[in-house]
Amino acid sequence: MKRISILGSTGSIGKSALEVVLRYKDEFEVVGLTANSNIKLLEEQIKTFDPEIVAVADESGAAELRKKLKIEILSGERGISDVASYGNTDFVLSAIVGFAGLLPTLAAVKAGKTVGLANKESLVVAGEMVMKTAARLGAAIIPVDSEHSAIFQCIEGRSRDSIRRIVLTASGGPFLGRNKKELAGVTVEDALKHPRWDMGRKITIDSATLMNKGLEVIEAHYLFDSSPDKIDVLIHPQSIVHSMVEFRDRSYIAQLSIPDMKGPIAYALSYPNRLDDPMPYLDLSKIEKLTFRKPDVGSFPCLSYAYEASKTGGTMPAVLNAANEVAVEAFLRNAIGFNDIPAIIENTMHSHKNTTVTEIEEVVEADRWAREKARETIERRYA
Ligand code: NAD
Ligand code: MG
Repeated sequence: MKRISILGSTGSIGKSALEVVLRYKDEFEVVGLTANSNIKLLEEQIKTFDPEIVAVADESGAAELRKKLKIEILSGERGISDVASYGNTDFVLSAIVGFAGLLPTLAAVKAGKTVGLANKESLVVAGEMVMKTAARLGAAIIPVDSEHSAIFQCIEGRSRDSIRRIVLTASGGPFLGRNKKELAGVTVEDALKHPRWDMGRKITIDSATLMNKGLEVIEAHYLFDSSPDKIDVLIHPQSIVHSMVEFRDRSYIAQLSIPDMKGPIAYALSYPNRLDDPMPYLDLSKIEKLTFRKPDVGSFPCLSYAYEASKTGGTMPAVLNAANEVAVEAFLRNAIGFNDIPAIIENTMHSHKNTTVTEIEEVVEADRWAREKARETIERRYA
């Protein structure tokens, strides 16, 4: 029986993970759950899974839940990290969205847990530190992001120097094929209609701007210790090939399945084994074509900014990430337009004095600085 904790259990990834756990009851037991503010759903999950430890980030939400349930409810960022490092857990699924996932992910790594990593932002902002700490303490990090799970599966057991290139695939999102002018008028509602994946709001907007793929380039850079110029992106609208690796002999190995996050979640949970049918069968005879093309970075410049941040290193990826979080949040409340998202990110990055990162506090400070800068820009330009 694997004992698992889920950070962000009320989110899209968290809910899918709990579905997997329910289906394979003999394999997994839920020990810890955390949420931000969706108390109603968290309460239902506690009743179904009977965890030993629970934390709510939002203090008033925690107080509300304490009135309803007899069990101890931890709260705040500290409480979430306590669940992440809880002694009785074997496996921690890191599925909080955004920078808020960083410290809990680090807490799990520092406690030597096996971490199923969905929270890509923690690697984007502090990838070197997270990976080095994991290596030092023997904590395994198993990717949950579908592309990185694919690459992980493709390179398993192969020598590093046999790999020539990593190719991340991208669906292209809801605005594939549109130019910058056409993108200017898109609405929040349009942007939230992803053609292939059903995900949380933040990552859905990131998919529409291609920032999601940019964050994934940085994530792959740290996870697989691969330089950014050996990581390519191809648009593959069918979302069947989840990513691939090109080897030195020019052969490719790719991983294919229907687009369903239960696949990579189940793989991370059961690694190194595989479960029976966590997702539906992919009938390749029904797929007429699989297409690949280069991304249009002129219309979707977020991808280029991510490459730039990745090559610059230091605090720049944290700045890119923070500016993106602020801009996406502003877009979601209709304060700015779609093309303003890359404009704010570019402006924030170019105002930043980059420094190297040796302590986590430097990342936290870069994040704080970039948020303030991006917010100021939004207020000045768009209020
Ligand atoms: P979501 O918005 O659906 O869920 C986010 C979860 O994080 C919720 O449980 C919420 O309560 C919690 N949370 C939010 N803010 C918090 C805070 N300040 N403190 C503590 N908890 C907080 O997001 P999601 O789509 O499930 O994505 C989660 C992570 O997984 C993201 O990093 C995303 O990039 C990554 N990911 C998601 C998918 C997907 O299909 N949804 C695929 C690949 C990677
Ligand atoms: Mg992905």
